[in-house]
Amino acid sequence: MDAPHRVTARKRASRPLRPSPAFAEPTGPPTILLSVAGLSPQVITETLYCLLVQRRPRADVREVHVLTTAVGKQRVCEDLLAPRRGWFHRFCREYGIPAARIRFNTRTIHVVSGADGAFLDDVRTPEDNVRLADAVLALVRDLTRDPGRALHASVAGGRKTMGLLLGIVFQLLARPQDRLSHVLVSPSELEGQRDFFYPPRAPRMYRVTAAPIRSRDVRVELAEIPVPLLRDHVPAIGTGEQSYSELIALTQRELDWQTKPPPLVLEARSRALRIAETTVRLTPLEFAVYTLFARRRTAGCGRAECPGCERCALRTDAFLEPETLEALRGILQGLHVHDDRVATLEGWYSTDLSKKDPRDRFLQVRSRINRKVRQALGVGRCVDRYLLAATGKRGETLYCIPASRDLIRFG
Ligand SMILES: [Zn+2]
Repeated sequence: MDAPHRVTARKRASRPLRPSPAFAEPTGPPTILLSVAGLSPQVITETLYCLLVQRRPRADVREVHVLTTAVGKQRVCEDLLAPRRGWFHRFCREYGIPAARIRFNTRTIHVVSGADGAFLDDVRTPEDNVRLADAVLALVRDLTRDPGRALHASVAGGRKTMGLLLGIVFQLLARPQDRLSHVLVSPSELEGQRDFFYPPRAPRMYRVTAAPIRSRDVRVELAEIPVPLLRDHVPAIGTGEQSYSELIALTQRELDWQTKPPPLVLEARSRALRIAETTVRLTPLEFAVYTLFARRRTAGCGRAECPGCERCALRTDAFLEPETLEALRGILQGLHVHDDRVATLEGWYSTDLSKKDPRDRFLQVRSRINRKVRQALGVGRCVDRYLLAATGKRGETLYCIPASRDLIRFG
């Protein structure tokens, strides 16, 4: 009667099912389970079994999100979420887990759509892959927004690319409370079987191999995958809504520039800063102010890396001194500025300091420079070294270019 690949169950009438265990209050932060599922939604119940039954204390799973294809969604809906007979509901009943406590419905099943907006049935082309990468990123970004919740991401199930992308995105976005795992089932013959969704409480036999497998011999385990967490090391990650490829490029630049920052070239002729492939165009006045600080840095204390000492930096008060303004004027002269008002720094001083304070003039120019540098280079800690940075306590602020003096070139 039993075909070799059909799973059959045999309840032992002599041993009645124990009553459902009382639902022990879970501990730890409210957790969101995110699973990539292809055509084997079993991985979701298997992972839930590990988190809610096996783990002591239980994880406080509040939401289950699934990223899948159109066909995969249909499978999850039919196999797991069908009213009463769906395996998610059976699992909750069997183990005394209040299902109402866990948000898992058609709205938490996310289907990747293709370029035409239609749901993808499969991921087959490079374009599909781009869509998938962006979808994984958008979903994980969304699910890691609340610092009071933990994300448990499972790479079991789904196409290989899905799991891989989830792993990479996890590295970028995960916080210390988040976990990445893979669920392991042994014996492996049970994996993906249509009747095996979690180890049952009532003993049964699975006839999938020549020798039937007893349910008590089944092992389901979570293998946690430790990964380096980059979120706090790459400021771009937490700030924008970049696409997957943009975020990877920003992350790579951050890592590259940490090891080998590109030179900072001040090109007087075009009044521009050149940093790697990027050109930051400045007005003559902005370029002159930046040059003043670059000269100060290169002639400063002599240390390659300096957080901003008295000899490498300037205070705003420096702009009250005639020598500073003289130096600025000298730089402007070298730039061959035709506008007399700029060349003579008109408006930078007045007998009435309450009206025209050169310190304020400097601060205004500084914020314009920094805005332009940021706009050109984008976000990232690696960008900060090219700004006119402020260091020191309030009231004693020092301004300097943090880039190493060896990086600064006058072109
Ligand atoms: Zn210094």
